[in-house]
Amino acid sequence: MPVSESSLDVRPLNSWIPAARGGMLVISGPCSAETHDQVMQTARELAALGKVQVFRSGVWKPRTRPGKFEGKGEEALGWLQQVKTLTGLMTAVEVATPSHVELCLKYGIDMVWIGARTSVNPFSVQEITQALKGTQLPVLVKNPLNPDLDLWIGVIERIHQAGIDKMAAIHRGFNTYEKSRYRNAPLWEIPIELRRIFPGLPVICDPSHISGNRQLLLPVAQQAVDLDYAGLMIESHCNPRQALTDARQQITPQQLDALLHKLVIRQAASPRRQPCQVLQTFRRQIDDIDLQILEMLARRMALVEQIGYLKKEHDITILQIRRWNSIYKDRMLRASELGLNPGFLKKMLELVHKESIHIQNQIMNTENPKDIV
Ligand code: PEP
Ligand code: MN
Repeated sequence: MPVSESSLDVRPLNSWIPAARGGMLVISGPCSAETHDQVMQTARELAALGKVQVFRSGVWKPRTRPGKFEGKGEEALGWLQQVKTLTGLMTAVEVATPSHVELCLKYGIDMVWIGARTSVNPFSVQEITQALKGTQLPVLVKNPLNPDLDLWIGVIERIHQAGIDKMAAIHRGFNTYEKSRYRNAPLWEIPIELRRIFPGLPVICDPSHISGNRQLLLPVAQQAVDLDYAGLMIESHCNPRQALTDARQQITPQQLDALLHKLVIRQAASPRRQPCQVLQTFRRQIDDIDLQILEMLARRMALVEQIGYLKKEHDITILQIRRWNSIYKDRMLRASELGLNPGFLKKMLELVHKESIHIQNQIMNTENPKDIV
């Protein structure tokens, strides 16, 4: 069911996080607090950049499999308290239970975030809201792992109903069945729809968890800037290769500095440059979509090949005219519902079908399937 617009009375970001220079909020810090030295060194280097407002760090780490580093817990909260005193940076920690919230309050943590693995579970979120009631603690809400906008909205609403009005959403990408070059597919249309529904809610992009590697950080961060996000959360570590969690996606504070320097921050007020910016954003989306089309075509042809072997084994003809007819009618109908030109679609369908027949013909006429090139 489509979600309609609704109102969410939240405070502007710069009323609870000191205004970022250049208007872009930057949250950075390690995926996990590992040692006192690692936390302090990373925080000092980040603070020296003068471009980061909030120091983030995981203290309780939700791990997919047991037996791995699960965070330092309460001990690390003491380190973060020191970060705040020594560097002046605000601090942010992931919470997944009411007792996490209570401990963050005890150690004066400035804001908490709900992680993607917690956002999927309304029971957990509801429990956390009990601990948040009456606290005024700012809360950042990461999108749930799965691409379900309603579920994300539900978390935001639950937190807001607990009386929290210092809020932001964090877009960290989504788990999808399709493999892509991202660790978590960005599916930009979902946060864009969230912003349409809650125009006052700041949305921050987390390029680290979208990318899953250092190479994609810059293009993802640039895309977020081009889409006018309120800020970026990027993981950094004084020694990323030694990191106990998310080693592939973390960068040093110096690399963060270089990345922020490379970002083109556009002036919305410059009418002459505006068409170019929009063009670039659209082109990046086209690149993504084309890649998805190619991946889907490759999957379709792999299935066609498997069907070819079955047909060969059971002596079934390649062409089943009734099946082709029903595919044709169904796809043409769907295409017209989607507003696609029927002439174009007819040609495309015929081309795909021709290639499918060609693949199966090769299978039928080859003794050894490996001979197929
Ligand atoms: C994190 O920020 O380190 C984290 C665990 O993120 P997510 O919940 O987005 O996976
Ligand atoms: Mn991480």
